[in-house]
Amino acid sequence: MQIISDIRKFQKITAQLNRTDKSIGFVPTMGALHIGHTSLIKESKAKNDITIVSIFVNPTQFAPHEDLTKYPRPFEKDKTLLNSEGVDYLFFPSLKSVYPPDYKTYITVKGLSDILEGKSRPGHFTGVATIVLKLLHIVQPTNTYFGQKDLQQCIIVRKLIKDLDFPVNFHIMPIIRESDGLALSSRNIYLNEKERKSALCLSQSLKLAKKLISGGEKDVDIIKKNMKKLIENYPEITIDYVAICDAQELLPLKKIDKKTAILVAVYVGKTRLIDNIIV
Ligand code: AMP
Repeated sequence: MQIISDIRKFQKITAQLNRTDKSIGFVPTMGALHIGHTSLIKESKAKNDITIVSIFVNPTQFAPHEDLTKYPRPFEKDKTLLNSEGVDYLFFPSLKSVYPPDYKTYITVKGLSDILEGKSRPGHFTGVATIVLKLLHIVQPTNTYFGQKDLQQCIIVRKLIKDLDFPVNFHIMPIIRESDGLALSSRNIYLNEKERKSALCLSQSLKLAKKLISGGEKDVDIIKKNMKKLIENYPEITIDYVAICDAQELLPLKKIDKKTAILVAVYVGKTRLIDNIIV
């Protein structure tokens, strides 16, 4: 695996790769890799000639009070894992090269960026859209892989790619979970033993919603009420939101009458976790 930090040098490599007929799969990450990330990498490896992974903890998607400084950065461990997955290139740019002091350009996907995660984390999706566009521009991949774990991010990136006619195939991959249902996340390491147990409220509430819907319940308010009741039974949880939306645009629903996304965000102690299902 080649590790490249210099943007210009990497652009020369990707330009050269793009002159061949080899397909390039790209998986952007913030590092602290787990099997959720490797599921995307394995898909890229299976479907492309070349796989590129980036690691960049993107400061513009963190609000000032969020966990940017304590976000885990186990670079040596990540490198070993990426090597063992057979990744061809690791793009690991420095903060200064991505956002030099005179940096001024930001991208916003209107509307979609202000709801749900965007409402709780103002500016988050401008940071996400900006870094994703920059990375896609540098890498020029054939295919790019994102996890459904961050469903709103997927929907925003898909819209960005479509609106800007970016020539890349966008793929959403399923959520990888622990055996008890907790969605894998780099932030799970913040949880102590008690909080780890409470974190199950996310997947359990989604499971309950799915059960209610398959039992014929169509009233969104009733489903949400039941989900909240279940979540409130777990200690150390503060609900941020429980949302039931159409799965394409994330617009709120009153009745379950189309493909539906159910999303939850909670604080477990001080750690903010999200999860979702599509039914
Ligand atoms: P992050 O490093 O958290 O920015 O995540 C990089 C990519 O991995 C994003 O597309 C995430 O949605 C995806 N990802 C994170 N956790 C999971 C998971 N449990 N299952 C599937 N994909 C995931």
